[in-house]
Amino acid sequence: MFSAPTETSPVQVQTSKAGNAVKYLLSTSDGFGVEVTYVRRPSKHIICFSTQIGCPVGCRFCVSGIRQAGRRIVRSLTFEEILAQVQCVMTDRGLTPAEPILFSAMGEGEPLLAYRPVVEALRHFGSYPKSRIALSTSGIKPGLIRNLAHENWPKPLKVQFSLHAPNDQLRRRLIPISANIAEVLDALRYLSSATGFAIEVNYVLLDGLNDSIEHARTVAEIATTHKWLVKLNRFNVSELIPYRPASPPATDTFADTLRELGADVEIYETDGVDIQAACGQLSYRSLSTAFINLPIALKR
Ligand code: SF4
Repeated sequence: MFSAPTETSPVQVQTSKAGNAVKYLLSTSDGFGVEVTYVRRPSKHIICFSTQIGCPVGCRFCVSGIRQAGRRIVRSLTFEEILAQVQCVMTDRGLTPAEPILFSAMGEGEPLLAYRPVVEALRHFGSYPKSRIALSTSGIKPGLIRNLAHENWPKPLKVQFSLHAPNDQLRRRLIPISANIAEVLDALRYLSSATGFAIEVNYVLLDGLNDSIEHARTVAEIATTHKWLVKLNRFNVSELIPYRPASPPATDTFADTLRELGADVEIYETDGVDIQAACGQLSYRSLSTAFINLPIALKR
């Protein structure tokens, strides 16, 4: 739980140069940093909340993933802690539940490993009149993807599958403990046919690693078979991670190949690159502050 009575007061707030992305670091009562991000878009607000402290999935391109090895105890956040994150943002931005807000379980952590609190929180946010709800998963538990089909959702849930590599061999290098791609696709097909929920494929393009035309062809096959949108994400550089983003020409070629083969594609520039808005980056930078001293006060 976050510390009362200041449970929705952030320890640290960072705003992007463009002013449209804000990242908040909060502290839990047991002394961990938890981050939540706000992004302003022309037609909506986006609140991207965390679901765990650290992340056991261990993606090699993610600060949350690489820092977990013995450095930080991982636990799932509670329903109340998820609500407190979102309430912190809504209070700070002056938002009410009547506004168009996308509530997205795509911050730090694997949402399906915090299954019950995440489902309860998304159902709660889904009860707001103009809200949208979304969840991303690395595919660690295909059985839980199937379970999502039977959760009595108040509105459609958008599910994003973090593919990031088109074959299991390469994918295991990037995402060490996920299920096989075929098992995840089976579960997503089940979810989609049972509910009609939109499925999207997330793919972060890493220079020289997963950005070849051959990789694009395999991603296109997955996307066109299922009629799923592919979101190509630009990698946020970190000194802690030895990867670089794909070059702009490689990114364009990858996207063009997908389009030529009939896939729907969006190239997604991460908002708030200058504030390390990729999952895990702010709380890593603030870790010593969060552990040693917990001044629950707003610092801008
Ligand atoms: S990318 Fe997501 S699933 Fe992978 S380690 Fe980071 S937070 Fe966890």
